[in-house]
Parts: sequence; structure tokens; C-alpha cells
Amino acid sequence: MNQIHKFTSSRLFSLLGSTRKARIISASALFLAVCAFGAAGVAPLAPDASDLPVKTVQESVVAPDLAPQINALEQQSSTAQFVHEEKIRAGDTLATLLTRLGVDDDAAENFIKKDKVAKGVMQLKTGKRVQAQTDDEGNLQWLRATVVDGKDDPVTNIKITRKGDGFVATAEPAKLERRVEMHARTIRSGSLYAATDSSEDGAKLPDTIVKQIIEMFSTNIDFRGDLKRGDTFNVVYETFWQDGEFVRAGRVLAGEFTNKGTTYQSVWFEDPQSKQGGGYYSFDGKSLKKAFLKSPVEFSRISSGFAMRVHPISGQWKAHKGIDFPAPTGTPIRAAGDGVIDFAGTMNGYGNFIIIKHWNNYTTAYAHMSRFGNGMKKGAKVSQGDVIGYVGTTGWSTGAHLHYEFRVGGEAKDPSKMNVQAQAPLTAAEMSRFKVYANDMMHRFALLRPAGGGGAPTRVAAK
Ligand SMILES: [Zn+2]
Repeated sequence: MNQIHKFTSSRLFSLLGSTRKARIISASALFLAVCAFGAAGVAPLAPDASDLPVKTVQESVVAPDLAPQINALEQQSSTAQFVHEEKIRAGDTLATLLTRLGVDDDAAENFIKKDKVAKGVMQLKTGKRVQAQTDDEGNLQWLRATVVDGKDDPVTNIKITRKGDGFVATAEPAKLERRVEMHARTIRSGSLYAATDSSEDGAKLPDTIVKQIIEMFSTNIDFRGDLKRGDTFNVVYETFWQDGEFVRAGRVLAGEFTNKGTTYQSVWFEDPQSKQGGGYYSFDGKSLKKAFLKSPVEFSRISSGFAMRVHPISGQWKAHKGIDFPAPTGTPIRAAGDGVIDFAGTMNGYGNFIIIKHWNNYTTAYAHMSRFGNGMKKGAKVSQGDVIGYVGTTGWSTGAHLHYEFRVGGEAKDPSKMNVQAQAPLTAAEMSRFKVYANDMMHRFALLRPAGGGGAPTRVAAK
């Protein structure tokens, strides 16, 4: 087994001696060097490397007491392999990242720029880890990174490996470990973000979780004006990890917010035996799911409502059975409510077209898409807000827009006049499963509450 030591780059350089290519690497970077020469019994060279001063090193210095190890290294220097680990920094380019990783390899850089899979490395966000192994000439042997796209998209492990004169890149879905975290916070400055940034218990709440908390309670609490010092909230949410590294946050599973003495509560529930997607409920089992989305396209206005008009292509005066949302080609289109894909394909004037079947005889239809979202075929289950496709101008259309229809029993209705819930109430069987689950969450919150702190607040369901 390989011995693992931490080196600063200055130590690394001294180990490598003067035969290697001269490279300038900031010593602030902490390298994880995996020595492939089986150096049994080599003592750690820098007990606490992170304390060493930051400087640029070009010269090698060999400490006298290290001489035996250095000799051993030099004998095998042609086969020495080094694994470096770096985190993406703001403003990084592929070149700066590779330099910090100790990679001095034009062919590798070109491959990453051009290869369809390897390119994923260039989408990495600040703070994400990248590991690479090089030989002592800086030639890349392999490089690994984990790419996270969106909140719900699959997380991919990319591996680039040297093969002969070239490289191959593979992408595999990451196997993530799910954890459930529970945190209690107190508003001290009147700002939610200050409270979520504070690390009362050593954890900063992820931004996507803060957004979900705001969304969850925004009907009840105006987060810009209503917060008072002393307000508290408890939150239970899921996080996903790989090899001990946080990859991304998932969903808020339950939330409890006490604002000016009133406590609002909400819990996420997805019945494993139901076709319906999950949603937020009050602790007594009433659905808090909002109505169908008013606009399945973000940042768009309505250009043509549900009314009589002259058809832009045929010139005929007829009813416009839907609502048009102009938006640039490629803008994501979101499912207006939970449901199952009933049709995904091309249909005459509708072009690329999707119909979603919802509860209670409701369907929604989306036309003129440039392309469909991943996995969108008949029978696929979608949740409200899922990306089902992208705006385009296929079919009978004069410009990029979404034509959206809301249908009841197959008949198009004016969605602006419909005030219906996007989710069915729980059945009796679902309700009994819900109660078991909600009681568990209530119990967790009870544990988070400070003991004997003031009178019991009024508890009401979030709306
Ligand atoms: Zn239309």
C-alpha cells in the first residue's frame, strides 16, 4: 500500500530534486502526494504543512536529516508518481488549475478542452475538488472530478486516463450517500442570511436550503420586513456526500419557523405507494402545495392570452386555446404541476409537444419546444417545477415561445381563471402513513427546541 504524506510544494520540490522541469507553483497550495515508490517508514516531512509561509519556490533545498530518503527517492525518480488535490478557485481557468495540480502537459490540456466528456471539468464550480496524478515530468496520468449540474440532476464522476499516446474520458453516475441534517437557528440581526451563515452548531446552511426555507414560509412571513430579533427556526434537510465530501444539498424535509410568537410548520411527504409526487403538508396532513404554476417559463410575460385572435400563420380569426409565453430558444420549461407524461413527441402545428396528466382530470400541454428534457417519455413521472423541455419554435410558430394549455377533461380552459389545487388531498391510507412520518419530524423538532424557554408559541400550518 502506498504511503500518503502531505507536502507543501516547497517540500515537494526538494524531494523531486533538480532534474524535473522547472515549474512555478504557489506554495500556498497543499498537495496530497501519494508516493508510488512504497516508501515504508518514511517519516512525515512537514508535520503541519498548512502553517508554512506562502511563497513561490524555484530552488531546491535538502534538509540534512532527509538525505537517506532523498537518495532512495532519486534512485526511483523516473517512476515517481504524484497525486495532487486542488479546489477550484474563483477566476480559475483550466490552465491555472492544471498548473496548481502540477500538470505540465499540453496534450492533456487540449484533450480536456475538446473531449465531450472531459470538458465537464471546465464547468466545475468554486470550491470543488479535483485530483490528478502526474509523473515527475508533469505528464498527466489521470484526473478525477465530480460534476454537479443542478439541484436534481445526477452527479457525475469524470475520470480522464492516459491511454497510450492519448487520453480517454469516462463519466459515471456518482454513488452518493444521503444524510439527514437538523439545525436550529435564532435570528439575531433581523436578517435570515446572517442567521443561516452563523455557525452556532458548526454548520452553515447551504444557499439552496435557505431558498427553500424562504419559499416554504413566504406566504406567512415577509422575510425582508417581518423578521424580529429572537425569531427562531428549525430545519431538517437532506445532504448528499461522496467519500466524505459534501456534494450538494437536497430537499428541506421539514421546517418550523417562529415569527413574533407564532410558529409555522411544514413537512415534505412523498407517499411511496402513491403515483402522485411529493409535496409540502401542514403537520395535520393538509396539502400546502401551491396551485399550478402561473408561468411554466421563468422571466417571461404573456404575449397572447386566452382569447379570440387572428391566427398569426393562417390569418383565420379563431379562439386561441392557450397562453403564449415568448422566451429565447433554449429557455427551460417547467411542469406546472405534479403528474405523468401522457404524450411526448411531434404533433402537427404543436411541433415538439408534451402533455402532462395531473390529478382530477387536469392536463397541461406545452408546444413548440426546441427539444425535450431528459427522460421525457410517456409514463415518466414529473414533479412541479421539473424541466420538461426547452422553448423553441417548432410546428406552426412564428417565433420562439411556449404555447401553454390548461385542460379539464381534455378541454382547454383559461388558466388565469382556474383556481384549482395542483395536488390531490391525501387518501385515508396515505394519511395514516403521513401521520407516522409527521410525528417523527415533530419529535425531532421537539428535541431541537430549547428546554423551558418562555411560553409555548401558537402553532399554525404554513400556507
Ligand atoms: Zn399559442
